[in-house]
Amino acid sequence: MGIERVGSRIADIQSRMIALQTQQAGRNVQQQPATSASGAEGGTFANALENAVAQTSTANKSYSLNSKGIPTELASYGNGRIPAAALEQVGTTRHKLWAPAAESLNRMIADAKREGVHIGITDSYRPYAEQVDLARRKGLYSQGGLAAKPGTSEHGWGMATDLDLNSKAQTWMRANAEKYGFSENVPREPWHWEFKPKSA
Ligand SMILES: [Zn+2]
Repeated sequence: MGIERVGSRIADIQSRMIALQTQQAGRNVQQQPATSASGAEGGTFANALENAVAQTSTANKSYSLNSKGIPTELASYGNGRIPAAALEQVGTTRHKLWAPAAESLNRMIADAKREGVHIGITDSYRPYAEQVDLARRKGLYSQGGLAAKPGTSEHGWGMATDLDLNSKAQTWMRANAEKYGFSENVPREPWHWEFKPKSA
């Protein structure tokens, strides 16, 4: 869930709280006692809050993964064939990742920014057709090039991102990225970071 949506859920909850408090105040003045009715409303509010929290917390969520560490949800779609609904935008960029990866990356970029570190992004989810195009332009790893065989790229799962990092940002990433689930996992590609979700 994006930060704006979390914000609007919180605003929604706050307005419901005010409405409940107003109703409660009115009832206390008009009629005594109204314990059973207010108890029911308190329960409704508790349920609303619980639901909202469940929807907003992805930080420690775990996922069912296949033997290659790919979430089974993504594996069922296929590499480079992830539907738009499973992807989420990175900040205000044109880049998209699998939603949990995008949310974690957004948090990481914001936290780095507060520490004066700029993390730029140059690549993200790569649909199958783009993997074919890249392999044609940059050559396959197996032939000394810079591209994965189409259908095997980590970018095709929406779990890898290529970042634009100066030396300060590279150092920050190596110290902090793991907390956000990202790791530097391709030799000679210090820009390439993969999101590894927790296994259920
Ligand atoms: Zn990459």
